[in-house]
This record gives sequence, structure tokens and C-alpha cells, in this order.
Amino acid sequence: MTLPLLGTCALLFAALLSPMTTPAWAEAAVSPSAKADGTKCNYARFRVIVDVGHTQEVPGAMSARGVPEYEFNLRLAKLIEQNLIEAGFGRTVLMVTGEPSRAGLHKRVTRANGLNADLFLSIHHDAVPDRLIETWQYEGQERHFSDRFHGHSIFISEDNPDVRGSLLFGKLLGEQLKARGLQYTPHYTQPIMRSRQRELLDAKAGVYRYDQLIVLRETRMPAVLLEAGSIVNRDEELLLGTPEHQSLIAAAATDAVTAFCAARSPIRQANPVKPEPVRALERTGSRRRHGLSLEN
Ligand SMILES: [Zn+2]
Repeated sequence: MTLPLLGTCALLFAALLSPMTTPAWAEAAVSPSAKADGTKCNYARFRVIVDVGHTQEVPGAMSARGVPEYEFNLRLAKLIEQNLIEAGFGRTVLMVTGEPSRAGLHKRVTRANGLNADLFLSIHHDAVPDRLIETWQYEGQERHFSDRFHGHSIFISEDNPDVRGSLLFGKLLGEQLKARGLQYTPHYTQPIMRSRQRELLDAKAGVYRYDQLIVLRETRMPAVLLEAGSIVNRDEELLLGTPEHQSLIAAAATDAVTAFCAARSPIRQANPVKPEPVRALERTGSRRRHGLSLEN
């Protein structure tokens, strides 16, 4: 029996260890190709990696109607890529991997670090722990679902070398989703999640701490993972399948990237406007390990 993979569908993702390179936001000046829209964002130089969670062969969770998570991830990530390019972020890279093995995942992350990217955004869709799964019949087949939770969630790792940037982008993304009427799910704070319980770093934007995720921890640029919604929730699965909803999320991501790019520009940084300090950003020796399990 194939049960839906757990809510931590991203666990297999890896990161890389390539030499640090200068990100676009650290370049000295805004190029003439930057859009004259009042921001300091250098669109032409800023590189976003849009990571498609999982692979075709090992597709992550299974939806309530039997659609692999990878299909949801690929469709949404492609739309985000397209929106970013249309917004002027011509260096955007859609990251798709064909290797299902763990080694292949590390290879993907190594590639990410070699791309001199300014931001890494991993796209996933959520499920629930197996013990919360129920069964139903859909089109004559037994399927697995849980209508208990719904909504998106955002994760960062405090082990990322640019945790401040990661949290800033996570907040911007959460705020943009909220501005479009999308509410994050608070259930990762609940005891029912047991070892998958997470610390909520930003209660307004819905940004959680998940230090152990490899793509967030070992990428050498700000990195955020978006669980765009729960595909084991029968209503939300249908919603996530609509072009309208996908467009909302893609627009939110694009606006968040634009704001992040502007905020990280050297000109903006020279001004008093800086990312809000957050207590949780202080990197102490007491990094908690929230029940790391790498079984996925
Ligand atoms: Zn996933």
C-alpha cells in the first residue's frame, strides 16, 4: 500500500558546497536594464532558483485523488518561473531533477550553489503524518486523505548561511500570500504534529523554522521552502488545481521576490531601512533539532 508521504515531503532535498560567489544584490550599482519602477532591484542580475520539489520517479506525497505531489510542484513552479521572467527576472532558473536517489538530490543542490543565485525557492505541496490519514473511495479506488488541515506554510533553516535573508524573504512571501486572502496553516505548532512540530518564527506571515531541511540548510544563498497547500485535503486539492489559485500564488511569489531584491540592494541597504531584527535569528549554540527524520 502506498500511503501518502508525510507532511515533511521535502526531506530528501539536498544542498551543496560550492565556493561562495557574489550575489547580484551585492553588486555595486543598478544596471541601466533595471526597471524604472522606483525600486533599486537589479532585475537583470538577480537570479532566483525555483526548485521543483521531488522527482517524477519519486514524486513525494499523493493527493486525496491520487495525483502525485510532483505534478502540483512542477505546474506551480513553472508558473512562478514564467511570472518572474515576465517581471524582468530573466536569470530565473527552474530546477528540475531526474535522479531520484539521494546522491542525485545532492547533485541538484550542488548545481544550485554553482549558479551564483541570490535566492532559492523550493516548491512543495503538503500532506499529513500517516497516523492522521483516513481512507475514502474515489473513482472506484481507495484513496487516502485528511481534511483536518488546510493552507500553505513557509519554512526556513536557521542553519542557512544567510538566515536573515531567508527569514526576510519568508516574511515577504507570507505577507504577499496574506494580501491575496490566503491564510497559512498554524497546525505545525500543535502537539498533534509530535516530532514534526515546528517553531513559528513569524506568526503574521506564517514562517516556520525547520533547520534540518537540506535544501534550506546547505544552500549558500537565502532559501525558503513553500508548502503551497495540502493536497490530501479534499477541498484544497481541488482549489490548488485551479489556474486562478495557482496564479495568486505565483503573483505573490513574484511580488515577494521583487521586494526582496529591492531590500537587498546595496543602495537600499545604505539607508536606515533594514530588515527587521528578529530574536530567532541570533545563531546560538542551542539549535534545536526538531525530530529530524530523513526517511523520506
Ligand atoms: Zn514535497
